[in-house]
Amino acid sequence: MEAVVRTTSFQHYLDQLYARFLDVRDGDVANYIPELAHVDADAFGMALVTVDGHVYQAGDSRTPFSIQSISKAFTYGIALEDQGPARVAEKIDVEPSGEAFNSISLEPKTGRPRNPMINAGAIVATSLVNGEDAAARLERILAKFEHYAGRPLGINPAIYESERSTGHRNRAIAHLLRNYEILEGDPEEPLDAYFRQCAIEVTARDLALMGATLANDGVNPITAVRALPSPLVPNVLAVMATCGMYDYSGNWIFQVGMPAKSGVGGGVVAVLPGQFGLAVYSPRLDAKGNSVRGIAVCESVSRDFGMHMLRVTRTTTHSVVRNTYTLADVHSNLQRDRDSALALREHGHRALVLELTGELMFVAAEVISSTVADAMSGRDWLILDLARVMAVDNPGGALLTALMDELIDAGKIVVIAGSDGHFAFRQAVRVHFNGRDAAPVFDYADVDRALEYVEDRILESIGLPSHEQRQVHLDEQPLCKGLAADELDLFRSLLDEQSFRPGQVICAEGEAADFVYLLRHGRVRVSLTLDNKHNHRLGAYTAGWVFGESALFSDHNRSADIIADTNVSLYRLDPARLEQPKDARIAALKAKLFANLAELSLDRLVRANHEIRVLTK
Ligand code: GLN
Repeated sequence: MEAVVRTTSFQHYLDQLYARFLDVRDGDVANYIPELAHVDADAFGMALVTVDGHVYQAGDSRTPFSIQSISKAFTYGIALEDQGPARVAEKIDVEPSGEAFNSISLEPKTGRPRNPMINAGAIVATSLVNGEDAAARLERILAKFEHYAGRPLGINPAIYESERSTGHRNRAIAHLLRNYEILEGDPEEPLDAYFRQCAIEVTARDLALMGATLANDGVNPITAVRALPSPLVPNVLAVMATCGMYDYSGNWIFQVGMPAKSGVGGGVVAVLPGQFGLAVYSPRLDAKGNSVRGIAVCESVSRDFGMHMLRVTRTTTHSVVRNTYTLADVHSNLQRDRDSALALREHGHRALVLELTGELMFVAAEVISSTVADAMSGRDWLILDLARVMAVDNPGGALLTALMDELIDAGKIVVIAGSDGHFAFRQAVRVHFNGRDAAPVFDYADVDRALEYVEDRILESIGLPSHEQRQVHLDEQPLCKGLAADELDLFRSLLDEQSFRPGQVICAEGEAADFVYLLRHGRVRVSLTLDNKHNHRLGAYTAGWVFGESALFSDHNRSADIIADTNVSLYRLDPARLEQPKDARIAALKAKLFANLAELSLDRLVRANHEIRVLTK
């Protein structure tokens, strides 16, 4: 799957950058490896790949060149993966040396190289890659690099041969490491694998993608292949940040502020974690061995977009709690009978709802913890509504889990709604509470259902019968309030009785509204089909409620489906039967029914206004 090259304003920016530095001729190509002197000194290419796999490139972004020292960062990652960080640390330190890449910068007594970005450390890292012999190790290195680059890579034989036959200083370093027993066995073996690894050919586009893979937590954003285990990504980026640009590393992180690695082949790659990999190819080097135009381009990108990794443009604040309310003020969309509704108004304060938003990182979770700690006294239920939360990171998740733990210990019940998109968080909570008597309740895709669940529990705790058990006969229907016995009989004579089984459609969206229904037993839901899949519940009614009353007014079509949730029995009214102007008794009945309907509608409106006020405060 090849990502598209885009022509957008960032492309325009890159093109301008290319034009701006095209004529810069400062610096010289490396010539201590004779073959490197033969490259086109004025080649100039750049590429940026985002963690979404979008590729932007300019100039010679597809010209191959030898990766050289840039390989060190990736091979160090393989060593960490193969040996584990502790064993690697016995052999290679992670302290910036402040010296040139080919310095013999070893810890005095042990001979341990200062860091994996100087040649000494890199030769040791190569020796730590799994494989029976040098050839197998090299094969593994190449295969891993291919995961980063997303395509087959090869070694430039002339460059390898050229360094192999002239690299006396590296050879001396390898033998010195053997003397300290940092290298074991024949030092020529890892040295040879190191020379070959440095001669692997990449393009600026490859390198940008390799960088984007590090930016993307170790997963290649185009092929979706993991190149480095997630926990090791910060380790590799850390040594790039502190040692990646040789003895220019301090200045680099000061100015550009991105982990980076350069090579004497003229390449440089910079990584903005979570965002992108940026690579430049331009073989003229400064005195420290860094690509002159490579530095210029990275400095410009960082400065022009304010992309220093230590620059915090986004802080988390209390805005994570979008709203707080209790069940006394807002109820679920399940319309209950009057007694239950009144009981919930009285006892609803026992359930607190926190509507959360944004990203739940450490500080955001801390805000929630401290808010909840005070707010939960005198309450038994906490509902956390995560429907508007974009992400829960590990520290944020851990803090929320600790909060839930404390509340549950104190005998409270925690219900989480809308967490479907936060799989890792749910999983972590599940693991934490595994095997415990009480755990947070996670089953609710939206807060409406969670509210209904808690309402049911509250009603149960005060001993009210559940709505499933209720039968509301005609004389008790709120619509019939104030009707005299003969009016009630008359009304009964105009009605049919109907029953439905769970899942049966009573009214379908779009159909003409021709009947009004009074719910005698059971419950129905009003639901919308969104995007042809979601069954979004707008509301639900229990015994005693009227629905479908738009049929009383001319020419309406049903705006949603009404479906039986349980076994349902209904009184059904055909409004045409009220249209008998010459019959005075019917005219009087109709007037009373309309007056009752107006009052019921008004109650609902007042309630809805109150909820809107609470939910938008
Ligand atoms: N192969 C080169 C060397 O060992 C790599 C050095 C570099 O890119 N800085 O000298």
